[in-house]
Amino acid sequence: MSDKGLAAVLGAGTMGRGIAQVFAQAGYAVRIFDVVPSAPEAAAGFIGKMLDKAAEKGKLAPADAAAAKARLTPVHSLGDLGRPAIVVEAATEKLEVKLDVLRAAEPSLGDDGILASNTSSISITQLAAGTRRPERFVGMHFFNPVPLMKLVEVVRGMRTSQETVDRTMTLAKELGKTPVCCNDHPGFISNRVLMPMINEAVFALQEGVAEPKAIDEIMKLGCNHPMGPLELADLIGLDVCLHILEVLHRDLGEDRYRPCPLLRKLVQGGRLGRKSGEGFFAYPA
Ligand code: NAD
Repeated sequence: MSDKGLAAVLGAGTMGRGIAQVFAQAGYAVRIFDVVPSAPEAAAGFIGKMLDKAAEKGKLAPADAAAAKARLTPVHSLGDLGRPAIVVEAATEKLEVKLDVLRAAEPSLGDDGILASNTSSISITQLAAGTRRPERFVGMHFFNPVPLMKLVEVVRGMRTSQETVDRTMTLAKELGKTPVCCNDHPGFISNRVLMPMINEAVFALQEGVAEPKAIDEIMKLGCNHPMGPLELADLIGLDVCLHILEVLHRDLGEDRYRPCPLLRKLVQGGRLGRKSGEGFFAYPA
């Protein structure tokens, strides 16, 4: 086991891989679990390639890349998580899926172990209420791609203790991140502010105010945004944007969060953004 201790990551998809990588690079032994039997090994292989690439580019010493790889262990049963200091859940964005896996993993934590969720839109307070130690439950919202994005939105649920928040902030700094804390409320800060902007850009497109490229150019050049809102929506996934807007609309109950019909139509038509090859823009293979 590493000097830093043990961390467990539940869910070996896009986010789980990135989260496991940053923990391993920070010196934690990491166990990564997924409900799909081939996923933990696939994740370890993917992370290994990312670390090798970073070493080839001179961004990481080859010995550090090798050490980080050696700290990763794919596991196929929640009984094999060991006794982690922290469990970060990055499973599919569904309340029942998350509650099931969180409840099953919780007994592996020691008395002061932290249980964290990387959810983008599910209430931290509600997830915590389904666990045995809600005061030790916290939102740890990483951004994609995790190894590159500096922010961790640390989300304080209604019953999260101050000690848990403080320890999570310290831990995020150890991972080389910049943690910023907010209270649990639909969309936290990042998605509550970002998604209405994206939605408004889609309304502007639907109403024929400008073409997609023009909308994005105006926001990039006029507001100093590194990406336009439509290009960013394509990167996030239009289905993910729609889902988060639906949560904001439902949970905050205000018309201003109503998803634009054009966004819904594109999702229904399978135009999900980069991942499907087309969203507001085309992404030829
Ligand atoms: P993903 O679909 O790439 O990965 C989810 C993984 O969870 C899959 O490998 C799936 O097999 C696994 N899974 C499903 N049920 C499970 C279970 N019971 N136990 C363990 N693993 C299980 O999704 P993702 O993009 O990595 O998103 C994961 C979480 O991170 C979601 O809560 C999402 O809202 C959040 N998030 C995503 C992004 C993003 O940009 N993709 C950004 C921030 C937060």
